Amino acid sequence: MNKLPLGHPAWIEIDLQQFKKNIAIIRKHIGKSKLCIPIKANAYGHGLIPIARAAVDAKVDYLGVACLQEGVQLRKAGVLIPILVLGAIHEDQISDLLTHELEFTISSLYKAKMVAKQCQESKQKCRVHIEIDTGMQRTGVRPDSALELLNYLNTESCFEVVGIYSHLAVSDEPDNDFTQYQIQKFQDFILKYVRPKHPNIICHIANSGGISYFSDSCLDMVRPGLLTFGHFPNGTIEALQDIKSIFTLKAKIAYFKVVEAGQGISYGHTYKTQEQTRVVTIPVGYGDGLRRELSNRGAVIIRGQRFAISGTICMDQFMVDIHHQEAFVGDEIVLIGTQGKESITLEEMARLCNTITYEILCGFNNRLPRYYSDIHEGKSISFTG
Ligand SMILES: *Cc1c(COP(=O)(O)O)cnc(C)c1O
Repeated sequence: MNKLPLGHPAWIEIDLQQFKKNIAIIRKHIGKSKLCIPIKANAYGHGLIPIARAAVDAKVDYLGVACLQEGVQLRKAGVLIPILVLGAIHEDQISDLLTHELEFTISSLYKAKMVAKQCQESKQKCRVHIEIDTGMQRTGVRPDSALELLNYLNTESCFEVVGIYSHLAVSDEPDNDFTQYQIQKFQDFILKYVRPKHPNIICHIANSGGISYFSDSCLDMVRPGLLTFGHFPNGTIEALQDIKSIFTLKAKIAYFKVVEAGQGISYGHTYKTQEQTRVVTIPVGYGDGLRRELSNRGAVIIRGQRFAISGTICMDQFMVDIHHQEAFVGDEIVLIGTQGKESITLEEMARLCNTITYEILCGFNNRLPRYYSDIHEGKSISFTG
């Protein structure tokens, strides 16, 4: 790339063609199940609207969001497919949920009655999902209270119960029996109270871990977030091995200098030059979401070669000691992704930061422009978002 996208010397590249491939691979794996793609938190940092549009192109059945405002943003951008708000709703949000025709989650009689009251006042109807807590202890009605809630919702004419779901707590651990326990608990309720009387209710429990490691969790619908973005919660599986990351983080070298031996670099002088050496400055910092834990631990790829980050990461930039190697101001470097024979994965970065890939992805904010590539009607296209 010769021109800077949106005039900024650091950026994220998102491969929407691979995103659609990932969706197609998941589709094949889950058979007849419907597909809901959770695109909360700015689509795991990939950009809410472009990802939503690509998902609609790929004919997903549902989009999932965490909260009302994410759903409203999608509706305002003209996204018309069903959107499920997964998080708990608040009283003040009900009117907007109804107006924007967002499907939302009801997990208690208390909330159900609150919604019913507003629906009666405004003469509106709504499509809702019941969440049953099978062991996450986050939100969701207890299994032994779920029938009462289902019955109540069915007696109030403003509600259409379109789905019942639960969420897996440890599905990223393939050997953990608790996932099987949760699936069983959910299935017990479904088989006893839902299938006989309400065969059209969409039952769903599988997240990325469920789909990857517990195939019997793929019921009427699945909700893979991380996996559609090309990452496994805990290692790849053969049937899904063509799923690939769609996220690359790049920058252009902003500054080059020669530094004398024994000099401290960056805040706190935590890195000292061993000899007279070459140092480049990269215009990305923790103010963009690049984790400060990577100071003196992380790496970058310059001219196809890996170099360690030297010294502490600043808010807007960091330094790299390239020793006797060559590099020039304006060279394109890679922080996450591949250049030549070298790769730095998101998984590697997450490990160095003692966290999960999810958190690293969500951390990149909008100071970094996102640059999208796709194939449209046989032609390569690219755009910024
Ligand atoms: C975020 C979320 C998902 C997606 O989880 P992944 O691990 O990214 O697949 C699914 N269901 C619910 C309720 C969620 O909150």
